[in-house]
Amino acid sequence: MASEITIRAERLHKYYEGEVRVHALRGVDISISKGEMVAIMGPSGCGKTTLLNCLSGLDDISSGKVWIGGRDLNSMSDNKKTELRALNMGFVFQFYNLLPVLTALENVEMPLLLAGKTKNAKERARKALDMVGLSHRYDHRPSALSGGERQRVTIARAIVNEPDIIWADEPTGDLDTETSDMVMNILCKLNRKNGHTMVLVTHEDRVAERAERIIHMESGIIKSDSNKGV
Ligand code: ADP
Ligand code: MG
Repeated sequence: MASEITIRAERLHKYYEGEVRVHALRGVDISISKGEMVAIMGPSGCGKTTLLNCLSGLDDISSGKVWIGGRDLNSMSDNKKTELRALNMGFVFQFYNLLPVLTALENVEMPLLLAGKTKNAKERARKALDMVGLSHRYDHRPSALSGGERQRVTIARAIVNEPDIIWADEPTGDLDTETSDMVMNILCKLNRKNGHTMVLVTHEDRVAERAERIIHMESGIIKSDSNKGV
């Protein structure tokens, strides 16, 4: 049932060209099935964010291949990749990236408006906020919300499109333990109940343990994968 592969990379390399050339991904092979919850761990600078950005098509790869739902990202135009993200992916980052002038509800509504899904947008945004327990915060601006509440708004924004895949980069990195647990409870529930595939970068064992599969990276390669061979 859950064996359909939705994210796949082969011999993925990524160089950052600058004053100093950085070989950030050095041949990553990975496949993630629909509905999986995967934690990516590893020391700072080992390439976790780079991997997330390359798999989601936010960043170009240097060589190798990446497929999302069977589609080769390399062969897609930037516009097509943007559309793929808008329709099929949600993003949760450490530092919220909420627009300060918009209310919680307007922030959550934004991806729908950008994707041209204006019909029932407000209603769907309300539902997404209800799902993360923020029914009482529709009209608050980010500055009037706590860190945990802001991250929950970000999660609501990530799920409002009902995406296949949710990418989360250090989603609890800025939160205290209790709030972090609450945010993880929400992400786990979304994975189990709604079936979103969840790829989560974290350096915290406590967070990673919530995932069914843990991938350890080191210096741009995958060192261990608890799912290997399965
Ligand atoms: P992590 O998320 O695991 O901390 P990153 O993926 O952010 O690691 O970075 C991997 C390596 O690539 C690091 O050595 C980092 O300095 C380098 N790097 C990341 N982004 C850039 C960039 N935009 N330009 C140049 N080097 C970068
Ligand atoms: Mg990072």
